[in-house]
Amino acid sequence: MKRIVPLEERYWSKVKKSENGCWEWAASIDTHGYGHIKVDGRLKLSHRVAYELAFGTIPEGLLVCHKCDNRRCVNPDHLFLGTNDDNVHDAVVKGRLHTPQYRAKLSQRMKGSNNPCFRKVYSQEERKIMSEQRRGTNSVCYGKKRSEEDKRKMREGWKRRKERLKVINEK
Ligand SMILES: [Zn+2]
Repeated sequence: MKRIVPLEERYWSKVKKSENGCWEWAASIDTHGYGHIKVDGRLKLSHRVAYELAFGTIPEGLLVCHKCDNRRCVNPDHLFLGTNDDNVHDAVVKGRLHTPQYRAKLSQRMKGSNNPCFRKVYSQEERKIMSEQRRGTNSVCYGKKRSEEDKRKMREGWKRRKERLKVINEK
């Protein structure tokens, strides 16, 4: 007669305890990285089974989440009950999920003066110093002789700008 191996015994024989404290599922792993075990003919998530073996039934609607973020891990000490929201929140906190909310938060962080590339705002004092540096003999244009032709062009340029402003103001 075939000996019926109790679930607990069968279960823990599939677990490999690793040095970091995680108990990794050494049997079948699904595409999401979670371990699977057949219980009473039904395939169950192994970390959920671990939770049930250690603490009893999981209340309906609740998820078993990983503190260690290691989906293969079935160490009951690393598991906690949570809602789907908790799990998503947990994932967002740990940077696993890039939800629109998370991205919005990120872009908020990169806005304006929060952005590491934000242009420095100069104080009045600094502005004064800078404008003085460009003035008179300090100016890069100092001593440049302008030809009559250049002067005419500049005058025309100003005229055009004034015309443009007039048009804008009249609108
Ligand atoms: Zn773990």
